[in-house]
Amino acid sequence: MAKKRLIFFHFKRDLRLFDNSGLYQALRRAYELTQQGFPTEVLPVFVFDRKILDRLPSREDRRVSFIFYHVLALQKGLQKWGSDLLILHGSATEELIQCRSRYQSEYGKIDFYGNFDDDPYPRMRDQKIKDEFTKEGGQFCLFKDHHLFSRSEILNRSQSPYTVFTSYKKSWLEKISDPFYLQSYPTEKYKDFLKKGFLSQKSFSLEEIGFQRMDFPSQRESSSLLSVLSDYAHDRDFPSRQGTSLLGVHLRFGTISVRQLVSTALEISESFVSELIWRDFFAQILYHYPRVVKESFKVKYENISWRYNEEEIQRWKEGSTGYPLVDAGMRELVQTGYMHNRVRMVVGSFFCKHLLHHWHVGERWFANHLLDYDLASNNGNWQWVAGSGCDAAPYFRIFNPMAQQEKFDADFIYIKKWVPEFETSRYPPPMVNHEQARQRALNEYRKGLER
Ligand SMILES: Cc1cc2nc3c(=O)[nH]c(=O)nc-3n(C[C@H](O)[C@H](O)[C@H](O)COP(=O)(O)OP(=O)(O)OC[C@H]3O[C@@H](n4cnc5c(N)ncnc54)[C@H](O)[C@@H]3O)c2cc1C
Repeated sequence: MAKKRLIFFHFKRDLRLFDNSGLYQALRRAYELTQQGFPTEVLPVFVFDRKILDRLPSREDRRVSFIFYHVLALQKGLQKWGSDLLILHGSATEELIQCRSRYQSEYGKIDFYGNFDDDPYPRMRDQKIKDEFTKEGGQFCLFKDHHLFSRSEILNRSQSPYTVFTSYKKSWLEKISDPFYLQSYPTEKYKDFLKKGFLSQKSFSLEEIGFQRMDFPSQRESSSLLSVLSDYAHDRDFPSRQGTSLLGVHLRFGTISVRQLVSTALEISESFVSELIWRDFFAQILYHYPRVVKESFKVKYENISWRYNEEEIQRWKEGSTGYPLVDAGMRELVQTGYMHNRVRMVVGSFFCKHLLHHWHVGERWFANHLLDYDLASNNGNWQWVAGSGCDAAPYFRIFNPMAQQEKFDADFIYIKKWVPEFETSRYPPPMVNHEQARQRALNEYRKGLER
């Protein structure tokens, strides 16, 4: 009789069982092989990857709590399906390779399935795993799950990546009209091919992996999401309204399906879909131009004489710039891990233009604090506010933080929530004069770009 076969399924940024494309493909492959006379099972695995965790600057990280909570939920879901989740902690590459060795004597062949993640570290990690698994004759397959379109799925007429959003969006919308791309992956259909009767050998607490438990907001009810989508175009720019979906973190870690979200949104809100297209747009920019992680997309922007002043950066980080909309946003970020999009644009512009600091420094601060932190979107948006990005705001467009407040928080509701001492003697005067700072930015940007 043929020896049994095993397929590892590695959960990463796709912490859900439903409509999970890679998981579906793994289960379906197990079904097909079994039909062909090679009994096959799928072993679900999650690794708390020390290579990522060790680099986090604080042991109080909301994202780790979020992931931990959702990994346990995933495990419960798998247990309901008669299986389990193997949870490991260590270097993902080493843990997965060791784990394969443990199962090797029991199984004839071990394959590796997952969904791809195009950030630089996961690409490197998955390449190493691929080398190891294929060396032993295993199959290695990764699938798209995180975006509607990624990598080179949408190219311009000369087969190059789009670097202008409006043209990318047009092609994206044309392509999505084919219902194929929104089809759901019915994982439950093949759930009997999940491995049964194994014990997830360790159960971890958050403290055991070195982190403190932190709060994070719970997901909106789906009825409330529908009402947000209906009013999205009117409300999305006002930080005191419940006008946006707050789904960033769920998209980031795959606790919702982007295909299902787009299917719903296409019926209700064109402007919401447009934001999800920005997400795909920046992901394909990072994939094709990984240099953006370290340098400006428009390299000339590196010639600007960026300033570096610790004290100013500190005031920006703690929200004591004397510009209330900026300060409210920066405090919201540190206290909750979230900041409203309109305010992200204002604080980003203030940092790069009024203070004339390199976008890289602001980007890092966001990376350390945002619950929905995503390398491609954060980098793309920071370069957008700095003017250095592929399809960025022109450098001479400088947000006036006071005018933004008058337009989007006219009654100071958002500001008073986060800056209770506003309008008292304890609140500092503006750290820079708007008109002078604006002029300095224009001069320095112009000089740098002419170099
Ligand atoms: C300086 C700066 C940094 C940012 N950093 C991040 C980041 O690290 N991660 C991140 O997901 N978004 C980032 N954004 C984009 C945007 O601010 C957030 O996606 C949004 O505020 C999240 O809240 P929400 O889920 O309620 O968004 P909604 O308005 O409800 O939008 C729905 C989803 O669309 C996507 N989206 C919306 N706006 C954008 C955008 N401009 N670019 C890319 N995707 C978008 C997000 O996935 C978002 O969850 C950044 C924006 C700026 C200006």
